Amino acid sequence: MSQENTQTTEQVSSTDQEKHQTRMASKKAVVDARIAKATEERGVLILMRGNGKGKSSSALGTMARSAGHGMKCAVIQFIKGRRETGEYKFFKDHPLVDWHVMGHGFTWETQDKTQDIEAAKKAWALAEELLQDESYDMLVFDELSYMFKYKYLEVEPAVKALQNRPKHQNVIITGRTMATGLQEIADTISTIQDDKHAFRLGVKAQAGIEF
Ligand code: ATP
Ligand code: MG
Repeated sequence: MSQENTQTTEQVSSTDQEKHQTRMASKKAVVDARIAKATEERGVLILMRGNGKGKSSSALGTMARSAGHGMKCAVIQFIKGRRETGEYKFFKDHPLVDWHVMGHGFTWETQDKTQDIEAAKKAWALAEELLQDESYDMLVFDELSYMFKYKYLEVEPAVKALQNRPKHQNVIITGRTMATGLQEIADTISTIQDDKHAFRLGVKAQAGIEF
């Protein structure tokens, strides 16, 4: 038996305790230094992208966090999926949340490009209004990124509107891919990776999980 293994539990745990304390103290110093450096107070632009599940639910979870603090929020859904999702049912009557669904109900099934572009422009006009409205603290533009991918909207004016928004306003944009212009002006970008998904195991989309 090695000497180490013959130590009593008490001895081992006190050595462990010391090591742990030293490690944590140096970690705390690093974290404290970083916190001391982050002094700016302003709204941020967050991009939730990638092929994994969790982009919209993360955006709306963050919005719930804002609403919890009494902040005024709005959602624009640029692609209309299911008519009544759980999140829509949950937030629609919330006094601090305005929920907008893009015009005529664009879905993957629509094939009328002219109508889609018209609806995208209308939804973006609303987005621009919200981006000039100081009373909103948090805006979620769900699936906005597809509008640029399919060239329904131009990136440059959107970038400008986002840059000129009220300083305190937070914006979250979701979508699998993100235009370079958006990435350039974003403060936080999280890419959700698709490591595994129940759908590929044959599990049916279910209420409370998928919608
Ligand atoms: P969620 O709304 O659950 O956060 P999401 O916003 O990341 O998902 P979308 O690309 O908007 O994902 O897809 C919308 C729908 O497809 C949701 O019902 C979601 O659960 C489901 N989904 C997301 N990613 C995958 C995937 N990799 N494979 C199969 N279905 C997925
Ligand atoms: Mg989504």
